[in-house]
Amino acid sequence: MSNPIRLVIFGRQGAGKGTQCAHLVARYGVAHISTGDMLRGAVEAGTEMGLMAKAVMDAGDLVSDDIINGIVRERLAEDDASTTGFVLDGYPRTIGQAEVLMDILGNRPLHAVVNLDVPLEEVTSRMKARGRADDTEEGIARRLALYEQETCPVLNWFAERDLLVTVDGFESEEVVANRLDEAVNSAILEASSTQA
Ligand code: AMP
Repeated sequence: MSNPIRLVIFGRQGAGKGTQCAHLVARYGVAHISTGDMLRGAVEAGTEMGLMAKAVMDAGDLVSDDIINGIVRERLAEDDASTTGFVLDGYPRTIGQAEVLMDILGNRPLHAVVNLDVPLEEVTSRMKARGRADDTEEGIARRLALYEQETCPVLNWFAERDLLVTVDGFESEEVVANRLDEAVNSAILEASSTQA
């Protein structure tokens, strides 16, 4: 069996992150680990944690680091995280979370942290075109502003550790998927050459 691949993906809402995560799952056989999906699952299941998370999510705020780190720690302890590897989506969102992630991974380092980059203007017009109920102009602006605020420091944190690869996402789905593969393949090669 091939070696596990460990990735993190960042991207503004509307950047096509969901589509490209599905591509990574198909291409590399990794598990898609989305903290947003896990939290929405907990809300739907009506667990105690879900009830707590719901109010925070509805307000558009971040769930506390303690809760989210606990969820991710448990998820990454499952077998598939070690055997097939994973693409983390929506985590880490704070530097505190990034530090805990490194601690959880220990001697299983990340291959790459991908920033799927689509300009602010483009994602704004894509979201408006989508016409979802929560896609009001104000809502869109608020979520995108929050992303810049919360995520830029985390991107810089990974860039300082030489893990960040920026992939230009302002192209067709297929072209972006190819660019992503190139970035991931070269990260895998680099990792295997430093291990050799
Ligand atoms: P997402 O689908 O990734 O945008 O996540 C939906 C919501 O879940 C966010 O607006 C946050 O309230 C919460 N959430 C998801 N991931 C995290 C995280 N890593 N840290 C804190 N809150 C999170």
